[in-house]
Amino acid sequence: MRMRHTSPFEMAVVKLHIKAPIFVLRQLIRHRTHAANEYSARYSIVPDEYYIPEIGDIAVQSTTNRQGRGESVSGQDALTVQRLIREHSDDSYDLYESLLAERSNFGVGLSGSFEGIARETARMVLPVNFYSEIYWTQSLHNLFHLLKLRMDHHAQLEIRELANGIYRLVQPLFPLATEAFEDYILGALNLSRMEFELLKSLTSSLNLYDIGTQQVLTPSTYLHNMIKDAGSLKDFGISVGMSERELRDFITKWDFEIE
Ligand SMILES: Cc1cc2nc3c(=O)[nH]c(=O)nc-3n(C[C@H](O)[C@H](O)[C@H](O)COP(=O)(O)OP(=O)(O)OC[C@H]3O[C@@H](n4cnc5c(N)ncnc54)[C@H](O)[C@@H]3O)c2cc1C
Repeated sequence: MRMRHTSPFEMAVVKLHIKAPIFVLRQLIRHRTHAANEYSARYSIVPDEYYIPEIGDIAVQSTTNRQGRGESVSGQDALTVQRLIREHSDDSYDLYESLLAERSNFGVGLSGSFEGIARETARMVLPVNFYSEIYWTQSLHNLFHLLKLRMDHHAQLEIRELANGIYRLVQPLFPLATEAFEDYILGALNLSRMEFELLKSLTSSLNLYDIGTQQVLTPSTYLHNMIKDAGSLKDFGISVGMSERELRDFITKWDFEIE
């Protein structure tokens, strides 16, 4: 694992039966190195089961990451959002059932003289928070690649939870391989050239005494002072060849305390 000699990990194969909201499976399926078979909503009737986010997970759009959540919304607003999602899901399922109904009394002028609309058509009204099921077969090597990406904090909460759940199942089956995965992939850091350069300059200043501020400089305080001198995260980022977002990621990777 350490030397990326990956073929031994391709010899082990995992087969999972996954039940998750459609929007999560849609992200999962982007990992092409698998064989999958999904529950057919053309053949079977979709059960009345949908996902509602927890109160604490309902948040506003992040201003720093276009793909993520920002601050949680207040308790009352979160309850309202939960209720709206639930009502919309219930209404959608009611419509789905009406379309499937044998003598449709949907009330929009259908004659009712047919045996229900086809399942493959009726399913179109269901939102992506409805659950689907999939059988998923993948080599350990490709599963580790998936888990590295989807257990990461950049991944959406819901697929992260799925990835963490998969890992809890797989870990006891492959104790040696997963230990190596944790040591050399999951817990390892990947640094860009710019991050590596910045880190070198920060560590070379380790424990220097700054006469002006009478501080012993740690990499964290040194970085903090440099950002302050530059005027903003954005301006400092430009001076070291990073976007503000890259710089924020770098700060998070090292747990630096920057105000
Ligand atoms: C945080 C995050 C955000 C994302 N946002 C988006 C988004 O907004 N929109 C979106 O569409 N996707 C998004 N994705 C999906 C992402 O672009 C990848 O498609 C997905 O993570 C699968 O990764 P992969 O291709 O490495 O994995 P796999 O498909 O499992 O492939 C594994 C490896 O095999 C090789 N490989 C497989 N197929 C090919 C191929 N055809 N050509 C060349 N090499 C190949 C590559 O080396 C690849 O890394 C996001 C993923 C993450 C983790």
